[in-house]
Formats: sequence, structure tokens, C-alpha cells
Amino acid sequence: MFQKILIANRGEIALRVLRACKELGIQTVVVHSTADADAMHVRLADESVCIGPPPSRDSYLNIHQIVAACEITGADAVHPGYGFLSENAKFADILAAHNITFIGPSGDHIRVMGDKIEAKRTAKRLGIPVVPGSEGAVTDEKEAKRVAAEIGYPVIIKASAGGGGRGMKVAHSEDDLEVALATARSEAGAAFGDDAVYIEKYLEKPRHIELQVFGDGAGKGVHFGERDCSLQRRHQKVWEEANSPALNTEARARIGGICANAVADLGYSGAGTVEFLYENGEFYFIEMNTRLQVEHPVTEAITGIDLVHEQIRVASGGGLSVTQDDIKFNGHAIECRINAEDARTFVPSPGTITHFHTPGGLGIRVDSGVYSGYRIPPYYDSLIGKLIVHGRNRVECMMRLRRALDEFVVDGINTTLPLFRDLVGNPDIANGDYDIHWLEKYLAAEAATH
Ligand code: ADP
Repeated sequence: MFQKILIANRGEIALRVLRACKELGIQTVVVHSTADADAMHVRLADESVCIGPPPSRDSYLNIHQIVAACEITGADAVHPGYGFLSENAKFADILAAHNITFIGPSGDHIRVMGDKIEAKRTAKRLGIPVVPGSEGAVTDEKEAKRVAAEIGYPVIIKASAGGGGRGMKVAHSEDDLEVALATARSEAGAAFGDDAVYIEKYLEKPRHIELQVFGDGAGKGVHFGERDCSLQRRHQKVWEEANSPALNTEARARIGGICANAVADLGYSGAGTVEFLYENGEFYFIEMNTRLQVEHPVTEAITGIDLVHEQIRVASGGGLSVTQDDIKFNGHAIECRINAEDARTFVPSPGTITHFHTPGGLGIRVDSGVYSGYRIPPYYDSLIGKLIVHGRNRVECMMRLRRALDEFVVDGINTTLPLFRDLVGNPDIANGDYDIHWLEKYLAAEAATH
């Protein structure tokens, strides 16, 4: 087992990882920017190293400084959290070259899944259902037209190097295709320095359902069921739940089995998430994230298994603590992402939190790095906390969520809490009846009436 883990992240996830390390009796080092000197993870860590000024590229993305911090403190492993360097293959390779363990998959697995065309090809080879579309990159209009005619309109043009919902264009007919192709390519080139794009069938009303998987790096793979992350705004997840209201036990076992076999075949090591669009009972792979997800706690709530413990065990060579048969799904869990943003306009709201009071009681978990008197710096994303609620079934979970939202107090800044208080009373949400466009439509309708 590791002696000392360096946590290369900030905010709630740095604290989340720190807690797991403490439980396992592992020493912790955190790195931070000058803007985060007062952060909770810095206060609770055994050691901390300031690695640079506020901009991420000079601190949390600065590989040299992080490797230097490992060497100074004698850390033998790095947990990257999510975002920042968590899916940076070069970072994984550099750590390996320094004999420091990257808590995550190999650089090569990160690289394959980071290139969407390559990822889709790999998924298909491993027996994972994919969205119908071009076999690889599409360069000219003639080929684009041929592929689109074959799969049928509407189609979506996506950047191979894409991420964060950028570089995607929908074409509803052949007339739109030329412009969509040219725009997608130039946007991809500008945003990612790689203008390779591919075409796939555009699904009109899918849900976003993702499978939590784990590989032990030695040919074993398991799945921890799915999460439904259909409630999104601008391709950003807002509310996540497990299990999905749309799946039954058989559907879960079938797609879970396919994904677990795929990570086993790959020889994959650590946590991963296989993301699908789901429509009319069919799954369509869109991408695989090779890291821990923001929404991992809903899976922990229904399985009772600490996924960060598992990541650390696997990375240290100790393998998984569970087999597929040990993983049972109990009840229902929902996560609300609480952002420091206005609940209607979504304008960021950095500043000082004058009062922070979190809900408690059975089935409630709050993962947050903030506290009363904490000043939210303006440089980073606006997630300040996650409320995760568990119940024996979805109805009990929703009752408890409503109560927890009423108890939650954050003063001094705007937060998205009021949005969740509205959502929890909405009949479509109560029925689990929503797709990936539901929230945008709801917000547009709300905006029109105010
Ligand atoms: P990114 O890595 O940029 O987030 P994804 O491939 O994960 O890109 O897609 C992001 C979102 O775009 C999906 O959650 C979905 O809302 C939409 N999307 C992607 N592909 C399709 C498709 N074939 N049909 C319909 N919507 C899609």
C-alpha cells in the first residue's frame, strides 16, 4: 500500500480523496494555488505545497511543479481527481517515468479513449453498441453526404478531439450538411488544434445513461451499475441518479456485463465510466471517461462501496475488494450539483459565504470543500458542493431530498439551490419522465414566464 498520496486537485474532490486516504491510513499531501491557501483540503492535509498563482495552467495544470512537489514530499502516488490532469496521458507517462504511481489507467488507455474516433472504434471492437455513423474521420463533403444518406437525417458532426460539449453541429438535411461540416471542422481546429470530425446519427430524445466500471489491471472487470445523468444544461450535468428510472434489472445486467467484459478485455486498470445515449430501449456508446466522475457518490450510495478506496487499492496492486457477485444495488440515490451561480441566469457568483449550514439525518451526504466565512475564488469552476440523498426507493429518496433542500442554507452568494427546490416538486421529475433536452426546455419556459 502507498505511504503517501499527493492529491493534484482542489475543492470538494480534493477533500473527498483526502478522506479516503485518511481512512486507509495513508499520509496526504495537497498542492494548491495561491488563491486556495485557505481551502479546506489544505487545512486538513498532512502536508501542503503551494505550486503557483491562481490560473490553472500555472498551478493545477503545471506538471513540472506537481512532480517537483511529489519529489520534495516523497509522495509515492498521485490522485488526480476529475478535470485538470485526470485525463492527461502525458502526465500519467511522466509520473510513471519518475516511479510515482498515477492513480488511474495507463497513459495508453487514456490516449485511446481521449480520441473519440479511436474510442468508438475500440468500443465497437469490444462489443459495445455504438451510434451508427462514419467508420472514422470524414474529410470531404461527398463522403459526408454519402454517410448521412446511409444513416438518415438528422446527423451530428462531432470533433474527434472534442470535450465539454464543444465542436458539435447538427444537420437536419443535406442542405445543412455543408455548413455544419465546415463549421464543426473550423471550431474543432480552433478549440482543440485538431480538425478531425466524424458523423453519427443524431438521436432526438435520448437519455444519458452511464455505466460505472472498474478494471483490476490484470484482466478482471466489474460494473457498479448505471447513473442517469439526463438532466443537463449546456451539456453540463445538473442532477444525477442511480438507478436510472428507465432501466430494469435485466437491462442493467446486460449492458453492465458488456461493459465489464470490455474493460477486462482491455486490461484496463482503475475506475472508468462508459457513457451512452439511450433511446427506445437501445444503448449507444458516446465516450468513455478514464477517471472518477463528479457523480460517483450516487453509485456509492446504492452499492455501499467506496470507489476511491477501490481506486487506491487497484493502483497499489491490491486488486478490487469485490467481485461482481458482491456488488448489490440497494434503493435509490440522487445527487444535486450545487453551484455558486444564480439559479435563473446561471451567472457565476464568487464571493464570501457568510453562512453555510448543511442538512443532516438518515440518507444524507454533503460533499463540499466550503465553510462559513470561506471566500470562493473567481478562477475555477463554480461547483461548491454536492448533496447526495439515498432512500429505500425513489419515492422515499425524493421525500428526503425535498426535506434536505429545505434545510440547506448558503448565505452571501447565489447558488443553484432554488432550482433544485423547483425540480423536486415537478411532476415529470417525480415520474422520472425526462430526456437530455428536458431541463433546457423547462428553463426556457420558466424564463419566458418571468
Ligand atoms: P463531450 O465530450 O464534448 O461532452 P459527448 O460525445 O459526450 O461530447 O456528447 C455530449 C452531449 O452531446 C451528449 O450528452 C448529448 O447531449 C449530445 N450528443 C452527443 N452525441 C449525440 C448524438 N449522436 N445524438 C444526440 N445527441 C448527442
